[in-house]
Amino acid sequence: MSRWSYIADNIQRVRERIAKACERAGRDPHAVRLVAVSKNMPAEAVAAAYAYGIRDFGENRVEEALPKIEAVRALLGDAPAPAWHMIGHLQRRKVRGAMPAFDLVHSVDRLSVAEEMEKRLSAIGKEMPILLEIKLSEEETKWGFAPEEVVDAVGKILQMPHLRIRGLMTMAPIVPHPEDARPYFRRLRELRDALARQFPQAGWDELSMGMTDDFEPAVEEGATMVRIGRAIFLPPE
Ligand SMILES: *Cc1c(COP(=O)(O)O)cnc(C)c1O
Repeated sequence: MSRWSYIADNIQRVRERIAKACERAGRDPHAVRLVAVSKNMPAEAVAAAYAYGIRDFGENRVEEALPKIEAVRALLGDAPAPAWHMIGHLQRRKVRGAMPAFDLVHSVDRLSVAEEMEKRLSAIGKEMPILLEIKLSEEETKWGFAPEEVVDAVGKILQMPHLRIRGLMTMAPIVPHPEDARPYFRRLRELRDALARQFPQAGWDELSMGMTDDFEPAVEEGATMVRIGRAIFLPPE
């Protein structure tokens, strides 16, 4: 037994909970991508989750992610690479290193980072699917566009040929009960629907919302990607 074999049960439990939430909402469970957030976990844990079927991994710090992505590549050998999702606040000076390594960026949270991404992507000839991170609560620590700024930002990002808008991302505030996060997820979906009407030339299919403590209401409200760390990687008590 590998030290990481408990991850198999964790993944199965999370998938069952996603499936039940889909059933309650009349959604197809295949429409929800499980992004395993591997921050603070070693490459061996990522390779174990891969062996148990995970194909999407999320990282929030570029300096931690880059060596890990290389190490996972070495562990997986000839197996197809997983998709790497950048989910954390991206500093401008980290953009150059991040662009070649990631497959999707969830956390485009201000125009200056979009501009820097466009510059670096055009230099390496790569297109990047992106989500716009939206700040829906007043918490000081949250990054993201305010809902009232996002229309202007979308107009500008649509002029950046290497960025491909695919939808929105949010982090709900920390609340006592998962159910208390539901209004934030609903607002993200409604904002997405409004943007899709206003900017039909962009793609708006993706809603990245829901973490270990609140993914069930997020799935019921239409999440297409859930970002789950602890429920997958922490050993049972
Ligand atoms: C850490 C993190 C997650 C996962 O959080 P858990 O509570 O461990 O599931 C999701 N999204 C972002 C942006 C994160 O930084």
